[in-house]
Amino acid sequence: MAQEIQAKTILNTVPQPDDWFGLKYSFNLYRGCQHQCIYCDSRSACYGIENFAAIQVKVNAIELLDEALAHKRILGTVGTGSMNDPYMPIERQYNLTGQALQVLARRGFPVHVITKSDLVLKDLETLQEISRRYAAVSFTITTADDALGRQVEPGAPLVSARLKAMQTLATNGILTGVTMMPILPFLEDSQENVLAIVRLAKEYGASYILPAFGMTLRTGSREYYYARLERLFPGVKEKYMHRFGLSYECSALHQKDLADAFYSECACLGIATRMPVFAPQTREPKQLRLF
Ligand code: SF4
Repeated sequence: MAQEIQAKTILNTVPQPDDWFGLKYSFNLYRGCQHQCIYCDSRSACYGIENFAAIQVKVNAIELLDEALAHKRILGTVGTGSMNDPYMPIERQYNLTGQALQVLARRGFPVHVITKSDLVLKDLETLQEISRRYAAVSFTITTADDALGRQVEPGAPLVSARLKAMQTLATNGILTGVTMMPILPFLEDSQENVLAIVRLAKEYGASYILPAFGMTLRTGSREYYYARLERLFPGVKEKYMHRFGLSYECSALHQKDLADAFYSECACLGIATRMPVFAPQTREPKQLRLF
């Protein structure tokens, strides 16, 4: 059961230039995430979300977003999908992401969406409208194997469904690709898995793949992840504890070899490992009213 809340603000300005996605702004329309990935960083204590499985809906978000964008002098990419998935199942009911995209389209702002869901297809027409300026959709894929995906991302649509959605976006002219992050040590960091993701991405119309060769863990996300590892993959938690201790960065085994294989396969298949981004522009200031 979701809780409806009133947000105080909705649009964040990205403090530093964002190398990955070229974001200038970001928003999150919900708190918590129904996809329940076992590795999710949003569970980290630093974010202060007490119960990540309990979804809160910012029901006044659309008005706040419209108002905030009206006063922005820098036209830059607005990102969503960092703290929760904008296309988790509850979006069917509230359509907040769909409405937010319509606001961006009307205000002329570019967008970048990160998701694990084919539900994004419901907003295809709005994305096409925004893409006259710039729109990109990145699908997070960490394993090529639907069965493993079901274990580590239990609430998200299957990897195969994400790939089909990516293909539909690509064939309809939307810039789309894969965020291959994280790659879970001991579970997903085989060359076989990484190369399979690259080949599937190519087959299903990805223009780019942004890679990570490992994962991050910190207080809050680590405890949850370890508890799930214990239940799902006996013996793997002990390997993490032995290899990483309390490290924030947990790199893939044979990280360099894995990266070499990845970049070589991408070069071979002609798939980019950076995504084209929108360069921020200054907007014409609003005409001042004299009377
Ligand atoms: S989809 Fe993203 S935000 Fe949602 S649980 Fe998975 S990793 Fe976390």
